[in-house]
Amino acid sequence: MTNAIVVVGAGVSGLTTALLLSKSNANVVTIIAKHMPGDYDIEYASPWAGANFLPMSTRENSRWERRTWPEIKRITEEVPEAGIHFQTSRIFRRDKDMEGPSCPSDPMFDHDPWFQSVLPDYKELDAARLPAGHDSGCEFTSVCINTAMYLQWLVGQCIKNGVVLKRAVISHIREAKNYSHTGKPADIIVNATGLGSLKLGGVEDQAMAPSRGQIVLVRNELHPMITTSGTEEGLPEILYTMQRPAGGGTILGGTYDIGNWESVPDPNIALRIMRRVVEVCPEIAGGKGIDGLSVIRHGAGLRPYRKTGVRVERGKLDDGTRIVHNYGHAGWGYQGSYGCAEGVVELVNAIREENGESLVTEPK
Ligand code: FAD
Repeated sequence: MTNAIVVVGAGVSGLTTALLLSKSNANVVTIIAKHMPGDYDIEYASPWAGANFLPMSTRENSRWERRTWPEIKRITEEVPEAGIHFQTSRIFRRDKDMEGPSCPSDPMFDHDPWFQSVLPDYKELDAARLPAGHDSGCEFTSVCINTAMYLQWLVGQCIKNGVVLKRAVISHIREAKNYSHTGKPADIIVNATGLGSLKLGGVEDQAMAPSRGQIVLVRNELHPMITTSGTEEGLPEILYTMQRPAGGGTILGGTYDIGNWESVPDPNIALRIMRRVVEVCPEIAGGKGIDGLSVIRHGAGLRPYRKTGVRVERGKLDDGTRIVHNYGHAGWGYQGSYGCAEGVVELVNAIREENGESLVTEPK
């Protein structure tokens, strides 16, 4: 017996979930989405991400990121065409930021972080290696993902496993049922609509809000990646850099602005982002300040923030159709992607067991 599954959403969450579901012969998977890899739109977060792997969860909620790192590491080592490379990451802390209003990614700045035993080569930095104005710091091996390459690679992996992708815009989650390419109604719907879950009928999750991130993409190179615990301007302005692989440019960030829906990059914020980066890392611009930066583009994306944390959960529609949710990843959708997708597979398997299906199937 096979399950017709329709995944709504083709961001990193929907694509990774579809990929893991499609590894079992028992699942016949269709992805429907308003936006697909290749699109750049304010309603589509995934292309705007850096993206790197800087754990943001607390130790208690670290399951999703912990489970994702081994697979991201494997892909980085074994699949160069996926567009991920290893990069040293440095985090610089200021004591005053640890006492101030809490930033959503605070656990990243802990002095004794849970991820020191997960990400390789973790060490605290000597005072001599800290930029002016910072009190402590650490470094470890992380990755940077060229999101344009990686999302397309995920699409290819899905297609190879028989997943069918279709463009569709739905206004109520129940409509997804009619989109399975099998021609029969879907047995299970997976909701991976990100911020779309705020307005999508049948979901309308009021805990969802945008966390706007403005970035500048430049041609200049900068190793290692850096992140600081705060900026003189204070939240929502933050500071990070990420060097993408394969000529993808360097991301200069940024902002973490909850509740801001603005799609157009603000030139004043852009100037402040560039000024902060050249102050902390003058070498990026050969010591020429902002004038030494070669801008590819300015951008803004909306992280799918959820006040109550990510939703990886199952439920039922009014007509009894089973649904599994996977949305609300805020600023960690890539670094939690495999863990959360694995969580969806577990919930789908639980539904199949309740339906009396055997889980002993031939893997593809
Ligand atoms: P999305 O990518 O938004 O995809 C949603 C999908 O659902 C789209 O295909 C959309 O078209 C579809 N959809 C929505 N509503 C409907 C509807 N009604 N009908 C049909 N389709 C619909 N994460 C990291 O891990 N590391 C980072 O370094 C990082 N940096 C970031 C920097 C910035 C500036 C930003 C903006 C984000 C960053 N993130 C990072 C976060 C990451 O980008 C998100 O968590 C992730 O992309 C969310 O993916 P998603 O698939 O859940 O949502």
